[in-house]
Amino acid sequence: MDRLKDQVALITGAGSGIGKETALLFLAEGASVVAVDLHGDAVAAIPGVHAVQADVSKAADCERMVAEAEAKYGKLTVMFNNAGISHADDDDAINTTEAVWDLTFAVNVKGVFFGCKYGIPALRRAGGGSIINTASFVALLGAATPQLAYTASKGAVLSMSRELAAIHARENIRVNALCPGPLQTELLMKYLNTEEKKQRRLVHIPMGRFGQAKEIAKAALYLASDDSSFVTGTEFLVDGGITAAYTTPL
Ligand code: NAD
Repeated sequence: MDRLKDQVALITGAGSGIGKETALLFLAEGASVVAVDLHGDAVAAIPGVHAVQADVSKAADCERMVAEAEAKYGKLTVMFNNAGISHADDDDAINTTEAVWDLTFAVNVKGVFFGCKYGIPALRRAGGGSIINTASFVALLGAATPQLAYTASKGAVLSMSRELAAIHARENIRVNALCPGPLQTELLMKYLNTEEKKQRRLVHIPMGRFGQAKEIAKAALYLASDDSSFVTGTEFLVDGGITAAYTTPL
């Protein structure tokens, strides 16, 4: 179990869901892990990581988290910009407020930008590495339940990742957008809080179930490791077939 031997990975949003499962898997695969979250206590509770409290929507926090990674472990080789929010009041164009739009973009888009702004120079110093930005299947499809700010923010993450992949490819820096389908994590289940709402979503997923954060962590491991050495600029879908089902003509 050493697919990430000698690697130093920084994971944002590591206090819960995908980020936490990825921190545990990366540790098991031999990486040194810097676990970052808005909720410092949540990452401090993960044994074996270097925990950092930070708000990814703040430039100074992102600069500090990268500096801490290099100070603690001597380098940074994997940057997993995974922190994201889905606001309870995110809705359609008419009902979404400017405040909800701005907060969603501050975390989901500016947070990824700052992670890259400060992470890329560190990856360069290390001689290269892998950046994984968590987008979503909605970046490709949109969502049938209105959540306009979230959907638009994930589209931005996807297009930003593609451009970064092209710009930094010759520096031995790979950049991929990881696009999970609907998962059984806190972020989604707080909305799908009745059996009826769950079933309405499950009908569209060919596999007939929600994904697990652990299954996304395994995809992040692939994208972080040398196993994906020729993979960059992708919209790496891990979605139980939902995108294929939507895009297949009836
Ligand atoms: P989660 O809510 O379980 O975890 C997100 C973590 O990010 C939390 O620990 C939270 O404290 C942290 N966070 C929020 N704002 C932050 C900030 N400003 N700075 C630092 N940390 C912050 O959610 P998850 O399901 O694990 O989602 C992780 C990523 O996956 C998100 O980008 C999300 O949009 C994306 N995603 C989730 C699903 C899903 O169905 N759950 C599907 C597709 C994409």
